[in-house]
Amino acid sequence: MKIVNHQLQPGWYKPSPHHSGALNAPSLLVMHYTVSGAGAKGVADYFVSPAAKASAHIVVGRDGDIRQVVPFNVKAWHAGKSIWRGKPNCNDYSIGIEIDNWGRLMRTAEGQVRSATGKVVDPGLAVELTHKNEIMPALWEVYGETQMKALVDVTRLILAAYPSIAEIVGHDDIAPLRKSDPGPAFPMGRFTSLVAGRDDAPVLKRKVIASRLNARGGPGVQFDKLGVFVGGTMVEVVYDSPGPWAQVKGALEGGAEVLAWVSDQFLA
Ligand SMILES: [Zn+2]
Repeated sequence: MKIVNHQLQPGWYKPSPHHSGALNAPSLLVMHYTVSGAGAKGVADYFVSPAAKASAHIVVGRDGDIRQVVPFNVKAWHAGKSIWRGKPNCNDYSIGIEIDNWGRLMRTAEGQVRSATGKVVDPGLAVELTHKNEIMPALWEVYGETQMKALVDVTRLILAAYPSIAEIVGHDDIAPLRKSDPGPAFPMGRFTSLVAGRDDAPVLKRKVIASRLNARGGPGVQFDKLGVFVGGTMVEVVYDSPGPWAQVKGALEGGAEVLAWVSDQFLA
């Protein structure tokens, strides 16, 4: 994929009616989450609909699918009332990327995990973290590796095509009182490192040092036990949350390969 005439090509492009004038020499890249499970196409179709009154330049799905609805040289409507380094109206000088993700999740009285819109979400995708603009921890959907890789690849293309972009921020940086996206589950530090090209680190493997380590469906003892990793097993760390739980991939006792959460104090 490359950027030709301010569009990703080859790529899917449908013009959103929600845009305003030329975007010259953007200086900022703004990351968002969609609060959606619709996929990149579903969200893009929404941005194309007259009712949306919102848009972004591109949408990146959980499966790595990328859809574009505003060319990169046109102002999209993603930031709303916003300010960065004293400069208001970030839409006037930024490119906006929407990442399909539920964002903040809730646990119901029955123990289910649900999105803000009431959709049931796999508890294995929920991580408890405190947003930098908040005091209390909350549940958030993790960003998977397939999506991160697509995001890194497309961001590199954008930065190469628009070298005026000097910073990558979250919507929660430019509208901190109104917005929580992309939220604490988005690994901003790792993302910017990967975009900068420091991606040659080997896959992180860690050794199980407990004799038997429970593998769970989510980051906490309240989640279902999927099985046991026996001592000495090497597991691949998929997501090392800032909390005491890590999401890992590996073989359970009995041989089944799983993606599961473990208490990271038992990993060397
Ligand atoms: Zn946003």
